[in-house]
Amino acid sequence: MLVTGGNRGIGLAIAQAFAAQGDQVAVTYRSSADGLPDDLLPVQCDVTDAEAVDRAFGEVEDKHGPVQVLVSNAGITDDGLLMRMSEDSFTRVVDANLTAAYRVAKRASRGMLRAKGGRMIFVSSVVGLMGSPGQVNYAASKAGLVGLARSVARELGSRGITANVVAPGFVDTDMTRALSDARRAEIVAQVPLGRYAAVEEVASAVTWLGSEHAGYVTGAVIPVDGGLGMGH
Ligand code: NDP
Repeated sequence: MLVTGGNRGIGLAIAQAFAAQGDQVAVTYRSSADGLPDDLLPVQCDVTDAEAVDRAFGEVEDKHGPVQVLVSNAGITDDGLLMRMSEDSFTRVVDANLTAAYRVAKRASRGMLRAKGGRMIFVSSVVGLMGSPGQVNYAASKAGLVGLARSVARELGSRGITANVVAPGFVDTDMTRALSDARRAEIVAQVPLGRYAAVEEVASAVTWLGSEHAGYVTGAVIPVDGGLGMGH
């Protein structure tokens, strides 16, 4: 199985959860694979580069065989109010979060079609469904993943391939550590469970979707958000 952006944060926790089950796990990293556990296969890949994606899949296929479970997790933010958001900021975020998901899904579908089965899991966000001031680019990219996954689910369901979305709320990672204390407190006040998620809590939903227990689940959006979206 392959996790994009698996060198830190939520992606690393997902990779470790699959590895703990005994799966062969590859992770893509963009900047550095320093400190990665030995049981993960690191593959360098910028997901905004289609050729790099193709190369990374080739490397994983050589070492582990075809990718049976794909977790499209890599993502970025570049927050700003609409009036001040540059077109470059909008397109960069959509490219890294949504177009990249199309790139990896398309590449993974090749092996999955041949194998007559596979699992694709896309890491979206509660803000893709609820919206978020200052995140027009990010929320649009995360909402787009729902349409992408549901279309894949309809296109490839008859070939034994499922496509689902996990929509985390606020998770304690580098991404949210960049927020001010005031903003963090404001967010926690809106979460019924009154806290951030741990990365492992997102990972457990993803491993379930990748498991045989979720064989009849496709086109679903599973919230892991402490109740923030109330099932959206
Ligand atoms: P981090 O910022 O901690 O990690 C982001 C990961 O994405 C890194 O591995 C990074 O690689 C990788 N990445 C970013 N851009 C690229 C690129 N162009 N090519 C390859 N890899 C890239 O984020 P989180 O772990 O918090 O987030 C993971 C996912 O979960 C994201 O999609 C995010 O939107 C989503 N999410 C996060 C939430 C949160 O509260 N933290 C809430 C909801 C969703 P590198 O280290 O090389 O930069």
